[in-house]
Amino acid sequence: MAWCVTDLTCTYCGASYPGVNLKTAEATWMVCPHCGPGDGILEIGYDLGRVRAAWNTKPLASRPLNHWRYAELLPLEPAAIRHDWPVGWTPVLDAARLARHLGIQQLLLKDEGRNPTASFKDRASSVGVAHALQVDAKTIACASTGNAASSLAGHAALVGLPAYIFVPATAPEPKIAQLQVFGATVFAVKASYDAAYDLCTRACHEFGWYNRNCAINPVLVEGKKTAGLEVAEQSADFGGVPDWIAVSVGDGCTIAGIWKGLQQMHDLGVIDRLPRLLAVQAEHVNPIEYALTHDALPKESDGKTIADSIDVHVPRNWRKAVHAIRDADGVVVTASDEAILDAMRLAGRHGMFAEPAAAAALAGVVSAIESKTIGPHDRVLVMITGSGLKDTKNAIRAGGQPIAIEPTVGAVANAIQGSRRGAEAQRS
Ligand SMILES: [Zn+2]
Repeated sequence: MAWCVTDLTCTYCGASYPGVNLKTAEATWMVCPHCGPGDGILEIGYDLGRVRAAWNTKPLASRPLNHWRYAELLPLEPAAIRHDWPVGWTPVLDAARLARHLGIQQLLLKDEGRNPTASFKDRASSVGVAHALQVDAKTIACASTGNAASSLAGHAALVGLPAYIFVPATAPEPKIAQLQVFGATVFAVKASYDAAYDLCTRACHEFGWYNRNCAINPVLVEGKKTAGLEVAEQSADFGGVPDWIAVSVGDGCTIAGIWKGLQQMHDLGVIDRLPRLLAVQAEHVNPIEYALTHDALPKESDGKTIADSIDVHVPRNWRKAVHAIRDADGVVVTASDEAILDAMRLAGRHGMFAEPAAAAALAGVVSAIESKTIGPHDRVLVMITGSGLKDTKNAIRAGGQPIAIEPTVGAVANAIQGSRRGAEAQRS
């Protein structure tokens, strides 16, 4: 396995830092020293010629079906690659019945809920923990709306690395439960995610912890990138690269990571075209939509959404997200809470149990079809970024309550009649 990292580039001032050694770099060396943590988010560069040579020697087809198969496109040394933590290579379901229902050519659902802790974030956390071990960190920390936290806690638990996690006190209970069982030290911050993020960053500086926050740590985005690498490879089984990839957007790192992966696979010749991106935000939490037209974040953002994973008012990686959306000839749409609950039901009725932020991406597709942004001949892939089990309260809101009955056949018959009458009343 070849080391193919070339440099780090500042996404703001463009300065390149070829001398930074990610093999041993301290976590504090994670932002551009000129621009600082506010603007100076770094991007990792690769020598794709070396990657291509390595893939010719050991073809992808011969490698394990998990995200470590892309080792040359990760800033990790061979010893840090952990095939015993299988993450990724999540299934792509061809939801033909749902495509017909929506009136489009093809609808693919990439089920990221199948990852070890049931969300997309395992891609980043596994790479983050592997890198923390590589640089000999003794403690790892992150702030999260919930999924990144539970996934970090899980991967830290795998290797016995102490983890300090900052979540907003309002995070859904199933996510908190995961954290607690994995044995992380959890701080439920009595404030928003944005405040929890700032607190975590300050604590990392104060106590010298490895900072797993994707927005600031460029290593983590490389983990997220593997979803784009995978989609490129898997699309061969589904009639080629989709016309659209729909993904919900909070901090902006996920969409930026996916796009980087797709671009690298395009540059490497694995795919011959690129999809467009459909970026989906919550109706009242849509700073990326604002940033796309204003080149800055909104001064005020205080709306609410049930989709906790994208309830981010100050997206730290907004520039990377905006660059990705522009490069991809992408479109931003928003989804109301009602549309998200509808999409949870719609996905569920077609066999996919999605958490609100994951269903938001599908809600965005529905709205893009209505506005004719997505046409009847389009092929669309939706990133289902987290399992519905991550937020059972909103799942019940979407799915409704079961019918309570006495344990008799008569009660069953009455209940069936009652539910038929209810359905008829709803239709008329
Ligand atoms: Zn800079």
